[in-house]
Amino acid sequence: MSNITSNLLAVVQDLKEGVRLVAISKYHPAESIQEAYEAGQRVFGESHVQELVAKQQTLPADIEWHFIGHLQTNKVKYIAPFISLIHAVDTPKLLREIEKQADKNGRKVHCLLELHIAEEETKYGFSEQELIDFLEEGEWKTLSHVSIDGLMCMATNTDDEEQIRTEFRRAKRIFDEVKARFFADCPSFCELSMGMSHDYPIAMEEGSTLIRVGSKIFGERVYS
Ligand SMILES: *Cc1c(COP(=O)(O)O)cnc(C)c1O
Repeated sequence: MSNITSNLLAVVQDLKEGVRLVAISKYHPAESIQEAYEAGQRVFGESHVQELVAKQQTLPADIEWHFIGHLQTNKVKYIAPFISLIHAVDTPKLLREIEKQADKNGRKVHCLLELHIAEEETKYGFSEQELIDFLEEGEWKTLSHVSIDGLMCMATNTDDEEQIRTEFRRAKRIFDEVKARFFADCPSFCELSMGMSHDYPIAMEEGSTLIRVGSKIFGERVYS
């Protein structure tokens, strides 16, 4: 068994009930994705639009592609025809553009709102208060071509497991509150995307439903 296949199967074995794996293939060639595909993986995540579009055109049509990175509004149009889930919607403006492009394509595009929980100032996402304000304001309810399926977050990049756990626990608390308050009648609001190669076991213990694992499956990336 090659490394990719055995790495993938090891992560799949770790999955807790109710958790799905998004294999993060950014910066890795199509052949590596094909190999994971042949080992049974169908959900892949990318963080650069051009790279994603190129891969989508050459790889099997039944792959479910997720966009996981920071998405610029002017690039939404390139992925709107096929994307299965956009993980990191971080502004109302981006959500409006997704609505517009989804409408043009006659699709409903599934999205998660990115919650900023890490310490680092540089990361994108809504703060807890911004998220509540945005949902209260209510414009999102008028967007009929987007479906808000949950929240996504990234923990601080640290070796301190307690800090990571505290951040994931906070994200789950916010997810539960937001679901009860704004999405009680929406069974599709059910996804909490959190956990990467170094912290996904903690994320699963704290309530993740989608883990985004890259280097543990495909090896270290050349660029990052
Ligand atoms: C690259 C990336 C991942 C995967 O990171 P690994 O450490 O390689 O598992 C997960 N989520 C996001 C948003 C990423 O950009």
